[in-house]
Amino acid sequence: MSKNVWIVLQQRDGELHRMSREAIAAGQKLAADLGGTASAVVLGSGLDGMKEELGGFDLQAVHVADHESLADYTPGAFVGALKPAIAEAAPDFVIFPHTYQTVDFAPRLAAEVDAAIMPEIIDFSVEDGRVIYQRPIMGGKLVARCQVNGEGCVFVSVQSGAFSGDDAVAGSAEVGALGADLSAVAADREIVGVEAVGGDQVDLSKADIVVAVGRGIGGEDKMEPILELAKKLGAEVGASRPVIDNGWLPRDRQIGSSGQTVAPKLYFAIGISGAIQHLVGMKGAGCVVSINKDASAPIFALSDYAVVGDLHEVVPALTAALNDAGV
Ligand code: FAD
Repeated sequence: MSKNVWIVLQQRDGELHRMSREAIAAGQKLAADLGGTASAVVLGSGLDGMKEELGGFDLQAVHVADHESLADYTPGAFVGALKPAIAEAAPDFVIFPHTYQTVDFAPRLAAEVDAAIMPEIIDFSVEDGRVIYQRPIMGGKLVARCQVNGEGCVFVSVQSGAFSGDDAVAGSAEVGALGADLSAVAADREIVGVEAVGGDQVDLSKADIVVAVGRGIGGEDKMEPILELAKKLGAEVGASRPVIDNGWLPRDRQIGSSGQTVAPKLYFAIGISGAIQHLVGMKGAGCVVSINKDASAPIFALSDYAVVGDLHEVVPALTAALNDAGV
């Protein structure tokens, strides 16, 4: 029997969240693998300006829940709008981008519509008609293969960067109002203000070259050779999470599942082990050059060039070689 996949898109001020495209790519693939159909739903207020963009994907339909009580995100209003729609349409799967917002309301919605929930997947495959999901466990050290037992709707949230937004298939979707009565939908919180964090945030996603540094650097005082190499290459500086958590670089430099997703032509991973949460943020890079003193570091598995050595020796030598080459 053909399966119906719904994809819940996230938008802000009429702009699709980057991860919404990733969720579309995942939802389209799931529908294709199951021989089913994919449709999307988007919630907000004053969304007319998005119609053209929403209609440009290869989806059966895009359902727009446009209501003033959905202008600002509140879990009560989002659950209130989606619950009757899901109950009526009875999709087999509902795909969400794994964002702070969906983490907030999707479990509550799943409980309300009696759906199973499979959070933060990084991949899936259809094997003998069953969907087998892959999700990182043990802080990303292992990847578990999981399936949902029983019948009924399954909610699936997709980890940042696990699917490429560029793989969202373009096409033509019919965009129309969500067929649910929204008159009783009401916000259950009052938004007293929204504060933009990091207004001048560096957009690493546009960089052609990224020099990323990890915990292996050993401290803020050792950063100079990294900055020098980046300057020489005209690169942006990125980092793994421990570098940020230690305050060695500002938060907007973090790459990975809870940071930025980058896809530069050239990526240097210096003193970075290659944990899954980091890899999902940079696996779209064209050429990966890694420098690590541990020959068995997981980052080497997806590197085009692997330098086994002490970064404190290799990085200055590399900069010197670039100088000598007249770069
Ligand atoms: P480590 O794993 O400690 O690796 C350091 C590496 O440096 C080692 O491989 C070591 O061999 C090498 N090294 C040490 N000294 C030298 C030297 N002198 N020369 C050469 N090599 C050396 N991580 C992210 O990066 N981005 C995220 O967005 C992110 N989000 C997360 C979200 C969640 C919910 C969780 C649970 C974790 C997240 N993490 C994230 C953390 C992630 O799991 C890893 O802990 C982190 O990526 C490890 O960073 P690292 O590779 O710099 O450090």
